Amino acid sequence: MARSTSLVQRGTGKARKGLSLRSIPRSPVIANVAVALLALAIWLGGSLSSVAEAAPAGTPFGSFEAAVGVAGGISVKGWTIDPSTADPIYVWVTVDGVGRHAYADKTRADVGAGLPLYGPRHGFSTVLGASPGNHDVCVTASNVGEGSHQPLGCRSVTVRTGSPFGNYERAVGGAGVVTVSGWTIDPDANGPIYVWITVDGVGRHSYAGTNRDDVGAVFPGYGSGHGFWSTISVSPGTHQVCVTASNVGAGSHRPLGCRAVTASPASQDLRATSTLAAAWASDRCETGAMVNRRVLSHSTPVNARAVDAYAALDRVLRATGYTAGWTWAYSCRVIAGTDQYSLHAYGLAVDVDPTENPHQSPTSWPVRFSSASTREGRAADVAAGQADTVFTPAQAGAVESIRTVDGLQVWAWGGRWRTLLDTMHFQINVTPEELARGLDPSTTG
Ligand SMILES: [Zn+2]
Repeated sequence: MARSTSLVQRGTGKARKGLSLRSIPRSPVIANVAVALLALAIWLGGSLSSVAEAAPAGTPFGSFEAAVGVAGGISVKGWTIDPSTADPIYVWVTVDGVGRHAYADKTRADVGAGLPLYGPRHGFSTVLGASPGNHDVCVTASNVGEGSHQPLGCRSVTVRTGSPFGNYERAVGGAGVVTVSGWTIDPDANGPIYVWITVDGVGRHSYAGTNRDDVGAVFPGYGSGHGFWSTISVSPGTHQVCVTASNVGAGSHRPLGCRAVTASPASQDLRATSTLAAAWASDRCETGAMVNRRVLSHSTPVNARAVDAYAALDRVLRATGYTAGWTWAYSCRVIAGTDQYSLHAYGLAVDVDPTENPHQSPTSWPVRFSSASTREGRAADVAAGQADTVFTPAQAGAVESIRTVDGLQVWAWGGRWRTLLDTMHFQINVTPEELARGLDPSTTG
């Protein structure tokens, strides 16, 4: 008995070695004998384990970990093991006394690590249909072999229905844009819904599907994908910005509120590249001052003192729905046709999708945006020479709206330059000391 236990506890690989199977020629018959010996060893080991001694002989044990209301039902989770076998067993789950079986064969690495004799395949996770209201949910582990069925407990669960709910958290005015954010859940939807955002009464839909772990923690049956973050192009001045959650199933649309928001003119605070280069002079072509960071599509060296600014640029552009095909930041080089170093040589500038955001000189000012509603349409306008960038005004404005805690514009866009247009190009617009004071979190996604 003791020998069998030690064989199994040292793992199946060593058990095979202990049984000297490696010296036996392979054949189906021998393989089956090996499996049978292994199962016997597991059974012997299981009956001797401290876990099994804690439970009545042969009776299953486990944990009914959670039961939460989801759209149209109840999600039930936990794990169970019958000491008579290493195989998965069933649980009997009842809602208000009406039951059904669920197979507890989901992989639970934590259970397998804690009870290696039985392996990891002992989790159950199932959704039972249930009407809106309060319900009693009970789980019983179904015994096999010796022992008897074991109740794992009961929980009271509320299944919600009706109108969406949520929170319109912020509306922030930026450079030619307003950015609206918050979260919403419809209890009848097993996933994200839309919000309807109006600026001075003119509306558009926005998908409320960005990750919000804090919301998911409070409403665990609904997942975490319930955030909205929308940057909208507006004229300078004060605007009334309202958000309504769009209902699914029972209930009706739910207004989440209105805010008055003031937007500044687009990108008004550009500094000369020579001024910025002087402020960051010690980092010029210093690879030791760079760290690798993923910025949109690519990992690229960036100035170590600007990593927060790069992370914010990455977040706000993603939040506008922009997907990049190519990005690059650090490059020790001068500006073409001059002896002045580019801010790329300081790790303080990033280029995004050069073929769709072309460098043009000479050109007319201001930048021409495409009015096409799709990325493909905007790219076609650029290719035809009818627009200068694939970015929308809101996408450029979202980056330009990133501010330091004291309100300084962190990123300048090459699409605002008067002498040439470099719409692929964003560069840091503040000194190291100004950037070190930190970013305004309401502007960084
Ligand atoms: Zn550039």
